[in-house]
Amino acid sequence: MPVPHSWVESANGPDADFPLHNLPYGVFDAGEGARIGVAIGDQILDLPAATAATGLAPEIVRACGTASLNALMSLGPAHWSALRRWTTEQLRAGAPASQALIPMKDAAMKLPVEIGDYTDFFTSVYHANNVAGFLRPDQSLWPNYKYLPVGYHGRASSVILSGTPVRRPRGQMKPAGAERPSFGPCHMLDYELEAGFFTGPGNLLGDPVPIDAAPGHIFGACLLNDWSARDIQFWESQPLGPFLSKSFSTSISPWVIPMSALEPFRVPAFPRATGDPAPLPHLYSQADQQRGGIDLTVEVYLLTPRMRDAGAAPARLTRGNFRDMYWTVAQMLAHHTSNGCNLRPGDLLGSGTISGATPDSLGCLLELTRAGADAIRLPNGEERCFLEDGDEVILRGYCERGEPGRGDHLRIGFGECRGVVLPPRPQPCAD
Ligand code: CA
Repeated sequence: MPVPHSWVESANGPDADFPLHNLPYGVFDAGEGARIGVAIGDQILDLPAATAATGLAPEIVRACGTASLNALMSLGPAHWSALRRWTTEQLRAGAPASQALIPMKDAAMKLPVEIGDYTDFFTSVYHANNVAGFLRPDQSLWPNYKYLPVGYHGRASSVILSGTPVRRPRGQMKPAGAERPSFGPCHMLDYELEAGFFTGPGNLLGDPVPIDAAPGHIFGACLLNDWSARDIQFWESQPLGPFLSKSFSTSISPWVIPMSALEPFRVPAFPRATGDPAPLPHLYSQADQQRGGIDLTVEVYLLTPRMRDAGAAPARLTRGNFRDMYWTVAQMLAHHTSNGCNLRPGDLLGSGTISGATPDSLGCLLELTRAGADAIRLPNGEERCFLEDGDEVILRGYCERGEPGRGDHLRIGFGECRGVVLPPRPQPCAD
């Protein structure tokens, strides 16, 4: 039997998402308003209650007493490490049991961060190649792609917590063959499997963050579903990129995984193919090349209304890995600030759709169904080209190394990011 790590028994199973070496942060409400907590097994450590009378620095205690993670994010790596060391000591096997534990089932999770700005990147070269094939069949990948991490400014106000339903948007679209565009409910609703990264301390306007300093500005990670209305996107995106096809909703998972919990799962940056250009000097760092990748397995599951009614388990559509991303998180942040743009604590950076080289690792329906040309078949015989009303999309993610049951086994989970599609609102009357 593996040695238990924590006195919280549910944290010690081989498949536990939230063992002692994860300790993600979230915001919960168990009837006393929004409070910061740390997930351990199936419990939440109530951080303001636990840290109230301790030797922790007063600014840490103050940050733990707020209703969002922004203040904690702004403190920086030395304070993050101090809090993580302290929390680990409280929860490790042999420490006295704390009274500040709340069962997850008795708490409602809240959006963990006040997100000032949200930027979405496009860093899977497999995804980019596939999308280029649909949009530019006569041309290859965009010429800038291997020189900079392409991104666009998303909408922070419509970032929602896992479990919040997503309303099918209306929009303007021009189907192939139609003479004129029309306005109506989206017919090509899609998800995008992504990882999100929250920034820590910001940078002053005009002061770029050098790539070697970038890790000190990244607090943690979550799962992110960049819901996408493809028919609206295809019509509106020329020439300035996505707008209303993306801004109706973006879902994130409730627990923010500290970057230090991901440290054991760091891998080299994506190996560039022979003939690909080296990153320009401001996007190149030896340390980042050696350790900038993350061995993070990510999955998409679909639960249709028929499957739900039959009590069936969600069907897995995809299993990919974040190590396949062409650009690292540090490169995204260095690029973002390279013109002097200031990031602030709690800004959200989306990675872009995580797609790999194989057909079972494609991170959205656009790719899986080749823009709706080839429907996917679910285990119960249903078919999907795009999402239908009542469908629930579930993202899961985990890092794992070693063999379960052996001393070298290490696993942490990201939990889930879920969202069910609601039908469009009735069209408002003109008169
Ligand atoms: Ca995206």
